[in-house]
Amino acid sequence: MNDYDDEDTAAVRLLQALIRNACVNTGEPDSGDEWKSVETLGEYLGVPGVVVEPAPGRQSVVYRIPGTTPGAPALALVPHLDVVPANVSGWSCDPFAADIREGYVWGRGALDMLNITAAMAVVFKQYLDGDVPPLPGDLVLAAVADEEAGGRLGAGHLVEHEWPLVACDFLLTEVAAPTFHRTPDPSLPVTVGEKGPGWRQIHAVGTPSHASQPFGSDNALLALADATVRLGTTPTPVSIDDGWNSFVDALGLPGDLANALKDPDRVDDAIEELALTEPALARWAHACTHMTVAPTMMQAGTKANTIADTATLSVDIRVLPGQSQDDVDAHIRKAMGEFLADRIEIEPIVVGPATRSDAAGSLWEAIADASEQHIGTRTLVPMMIPVATDARFFRQRGVTAYGVGWFDDDTNLADIIGMFHGNDERVSVTSVNRSVTFLESVLRNFGIRTAG
Ligand SMILES: [Zn+2]
Repeated sequence: MNDYDDEDTAAVRLLQALIRNACVNTGEPDSGDEWKSVETLGEYLGVPGVVVEPAPGRQSVVYRIPGTTPGAPALALVPHLDVVPANVSGWSCDPFAADIREGYVWGRGALDMLNITAAMAVVFKQYLDGDVPPLPGDLVLAAVADEEAGGRLGAGHLVEHEWPLVACDFLLTEVAAPTFHRTPDPSLPVTVGEKGPGWRQIHAVGTPSHASQPFGSDNALLALADATVRLGTTPTPVSIDDGWNSFVDALGLPGDLANALKDPDRVDDAIEELALTEPALARWAHACTHMTVAPTMMQAGTKANTIADTATLSVDIRVLPGQSQDDVDAHIRKAMGEFLADRIEIEPIVVGPATRSDAAGSLWEAIADASEQHIGTRTLVPMMIPVATDARFFRQRGVTAYGVGWFDDDTNLADIIGMFHGNDERVSVTSVNRSVTFLESVLRNFGIRTAG
């Protein structure tokens, strides 16, 4: 007997199996072991897909169902299989047991993003088995490795080296967010874009000498420590656009606070105020309205009794649409001041633009159709996210990429933000099943809207 016979629970069971596979991506090439979940998906779907394995064990799997109408747009479902590590000491349960308690599936990946991975596989299987009419264009399922460490061994590899396998016009991936209920009418957030990386290393150079006589010494570590504090505390450039304004309106915050969040001159005060009651939302709001600059790692010197002649700082910097890499360097120089800026060298490490898809077109309308049907509103809220996802690889190829799901009515955005990569990550059984229902409708509506 097959574990997945009961249709009502197929997605939940698949989610549990994926969590238990513990495809933990530490960032090391030999972690992840996504082959385990590729095997699980193959068993569930009943046929093997095309497996791509750029490093041992780092498997992604691609399935493609041909469409019925030549030239009709192709839709890809691109969930990831890996998860971030879990520190057991912070959890109230085993993060890889995937037990169901109080109506929730508990475990690492329950929200990021194995819930949607499972839901997408369940919906895809209906097309694979011929239970529903095929779409006009191709339907692709690409379940990928390595999203949590930048995607170079997963979606990035597929887009760069295996494009014919994953070629598509429209795409669904993360992040799915819960419906907003605080305004008189509900609205559904849909992820349309994400910030771009502007990671830098900052190098300072000094002169080595005996640390027993520091007077007048040229210490690279002191210069870099000063630079670090300046970088970490200097206010960063603000960028507020219509997308942010409509997102704030949909949050249903008190009028004064909402207006301040939309005002470049008052946004920082508004974030401080929001932090008093909703710290997770405040961090999110800050990231969605500012270039963010976070010093993360420092290396310096060679020996405890030698004045440091080199020091290097790593800085995680992320840019919004309209903020360039030149803006990043200009901000760094300004934060340092002229004297320090002349002593350091700035080296780009990981760079890329912010990416954003238009909130319009056949997939957007298909999502609105589904929202009207299940949530009772066609109001979709285009959402920018501060984190990187696999969507960026596809957007850079001109693909329209969104993240969407349907959660139970008790879950709010702040809950989700807090649990991503956090302790006691969990998703309700209701939310998993709702996402299946919702995605079923999105695909059906997309088929109707793209038919000849
Ligand atoms: Zn994710």
